Amino acid sequence: MPAFFLDPRTSIVVLMGVSLILSITMNMIRLKRKTYPGFSLWTAGTTVATIAFLFLPLRNIISDIFSIVLSNILEVFTALLFLEGTRRFLGKEVRVLFVASVLVVYAIFQSFFTLVADKPDLRIIILSFLVAVLFGLTALELLLDVQSDFPFSHRLTGSLFAALSVFMFIHGIIACLFPPSQSMLFPGIFPSLTFILCTFLGVGWTAGFIMLNSEKMESELKQAQSRLQRMATTDFLTGIANNRLFLERGDSEIQRARRYKSSFSILMIDLDYFKNFNDNYGHAIGDKVLVAFVDICRNNLRDFDFFGRLGGEEFAVLLPHTDLDEGKRLAERLCSVIAQSDIEAEDKILRITVSIGVSQLLPGDDRIDDVLKRADDAMYDAKRKGRNQAAVFMI
Ligand code: GH3
Ligand code: MG
Ligand code: MG
Repeated sequence: MPAFFLDPRTSIVVLMGVSLILSITMNMIRLKRKTYPGFSLWTAGTTVATIAFLFLPLRNIISDIFSIVLSNILEVFTALLFLEGTRRFLGKEVRVLFVASVLVVYAIFQSFFTLVADKPDLRIIILSFLVAVLFGLTALELLLDVQSDFPFSHRLTGSLFAALSVFMFIHGIIACLFPPSQSMLFPGIFPSLTFILCTFLGVGWTAGFIMLNSEKMESELKQAQSRLQRMATTDFLTGIANNRLFLERGDSEIQRARRYKSSFSILMIDLDYFKNFNDNYGHAIGDKVLVAFVDICRNNLRDFDFFGRLGGEEFAVLLPHTDLDEGKRLAERLCSVIAQSDIEAEDKILRITVSIGVSQLLPGDDRIDDVLKRADDAMYDAKRKGRNQAAVFMI
């Protein structure tokens, strides 16, 4: 069986071309797209890796200080930048002192085993194991990040770094068992595997970093969308449903009631003489009273009753599975609870009353507006009869 090996010079050209393209891609994304803290460190890492790979074909051509010592230090620096970039991306601090210490200690080892005692096998073993540990730590950061809910990109990139860490360990063990006797420029299984590994490494981590960044952007976008959605459907002052959401929900409740052959009632609630109230105490206290009124109502409604602010000091409640009598009983209870509640606003204790109109879904109703209109008529009836009471729309 012929020995497996790749042509070293072709491999180097492929490796350098691929890593250069990947590094340019990372730099372009950093410059042109929204990126998160940590992405710059990853980009720096891919650029440093490309420079480190550039030294591979220059072994025995330029001084060992550059082609071996410096290039290996750059490889370790790459792994450190990835680790610290990942920590930064996950909201942790970059450990400058840790990075500097690892680099200095490693540089001393490298220089000694290259320039004083030339030990190529030991160099490969130390480099492989060190990079394996750094990749392993990067994997742990991503896989054990308790703050996130472990999105897909964390699990995938974390697993990739875990696999790369295992690869580097195996690489180191192979180098221990079969110390490479040849230079990387001689055809052989060891240089061939190294080139394949380096090419896969570059493609793998670049894809991982881009995915992490875009998944974070996607989740931010989703959060912004749901914030906007909430803002568009929630009343700013009281936090309950606004007019738009109430009408939408009302229309869909009609469909549901038709399907399940059930009915519902509507309460239309209007605060009595609220204009005078504002005139006497000021708009700010008026606002506080509205918020307190909403709290009182909420405490007296069932979880599945739907409460909304239709505008100004007019509110409505949709009471599922509730007939007109039950609706009226609830409306009367609300009237008396509200009238008896002390409302604290600034240093004052205030009281309000409300008028409530009650109506029920009827067979001919197409839209929630039809039911609301009758509740509104009943509410004005309650106003006419003297306020602080409930009135039912009689057919
Ligand atoms: P009635 O018993 O007939 O309902 O009398 P009213 O004074 O409550 O009715 P009117 O419709 O004349 O006045 C409603 C008042 O509600 C006018 C406005 O100042 C007040 N109002 C509407 N929205 C708000 C708000 O968001 N905050 C405050 N503080 N007041 C509001
Ligand atoms: Mg009013
Ligand atoms: Mg009103």
